[in-house]
Amino acid sequence: MSTIEIRDLTKKFGTFVAVKDANLSVAAGETVCLLGPSGCGKTTTLRTIAGLERATAGDVVIAGRRVNHLPPEKRDIAMVFQFYALYPALSVGRNIAMPLHREAIGSAEVAARVRKVADILHLRDILDRLPGQISEGEKQRAAVARAIVRDPKCFLFDEPLSRLDVELRHSMRGQIKAVLSNLTKATVIVTHDQLEALTMADRIAIMRDGLIEQVGSPHEVFAKPANVFVASFIGTPQMNLIDAQFKGYGNGKAKVVFDEQDVDLSVHPAVANLKTGRVTVGIRPRAFSVVSEDTRDTIDAMAELIEPMGAETLIHARTKTGSDIRVVVPRDKRVKIGEALHLVPDPAQTHVFADDGKAVRA
Ligand code: ATP
Repeated sequence: MSTIEIRDLTKKFGTFVAVKDANLSVAAGETVCLLGPSGCGKTTTLRTIAGLERATAGDVVIAGRRVNHLPPEKRDIAMVFQFYALYPALSVGRNIAMPLHREAIGSAEVAARVRKVADILHLRDILDRLPGQISEGEKQRAAVARAIVRDPKCFLFDEPLSRLDVELRHSMRGQIKAVLSNLTKATVIVTHDQLEALTMADRIAIMRDGLIEQVGSPHEVFAKPANVFVASFIGTPQMNLIDAQFKGYGNGKAKVVFDEQDVDLSVHPAVANLKTGRVTVGIRPRAFSVVSEDTRDTIDAMAELIEPMGAETLIHARTKTGSDIRVVVPRDKRVKIGEALHLVPDPAQTHVFADDGKAVRA
């Protein structure tokens, strides 16, 4: 059983709480990404799982066994850091073989295992080269090979791709994901890059200020953000988050007022149970239809800035009272600066967050 669990994990540095009451369980074969802004506690969580930090409270459980008291080397974990130091004087093959030297296995077995992981990571032809003679992507693959050669119970990756250039990152994401999906180990990856998380993770744990705000599949955290923070953090361009007054609900629509506009929004029926008052309405930039008439169902704004983005166009529109609304339309939809836009949001992509920031859903 190759699983990782953290239960009510808290990590303090002095009086500063870096991780607070975190709960997460990663199944065998599953990859979970810890995602969040700088300083939110991702690396501390990972280091506590690895045993590089001691939990202040709560438990770390690996393969069903509580390991709080065990040093890193006894936890049977492989970790790949952002700075994957390969020994410069040793060949790639000998670098990969390093973790096997602590194990009582013969040199033929060592060579066989190195060949096996070199095949998985397409390193077979460069095993005899020195790290100075290979590319950054190959170095990264060698670091992953070194991590998996020992067949540990689980893997921890800390920003594994952050040193690579954009193109290489893109291909390495896919390659690492493919390797992990064949290994049936629990894996935790720390990243602050949402694209990395969305493409590599089976589930994403989104952190802020030491708290895990939401855990869900990439689709869930995108389509059903639990709160305003997750909504604002996931998705590019960022979701529009509009401060509004909720006036009541009828005929499947929420009556809201924002920036002096009365708008009837089709939203989740759970909004009917909400008390009137301040809410935040969240609408993804790609969720708008641009229609020709101004009605009670439209949000009205004027196109102020137009940014071509390849197949799509990003429009910054401004309401009468000055709020900025981001709208993404297909490139062939022609919009001019100064044009009045009447925007109807797609109900499935319109979120209402109560005054406490939590999503209103059944
Ligand atoms: P980043 O993406 O910038 O690496 P992170 O989410 O991984 O950030 P952590 O490195 O876990 O964040 O740090 C969480 C908080 O704990 C930060 O405010 C950091 O300054 C603090 N912290 C981390 N390590 C220590 C330490 N050894 N002593 C004191 N404070 C620390």
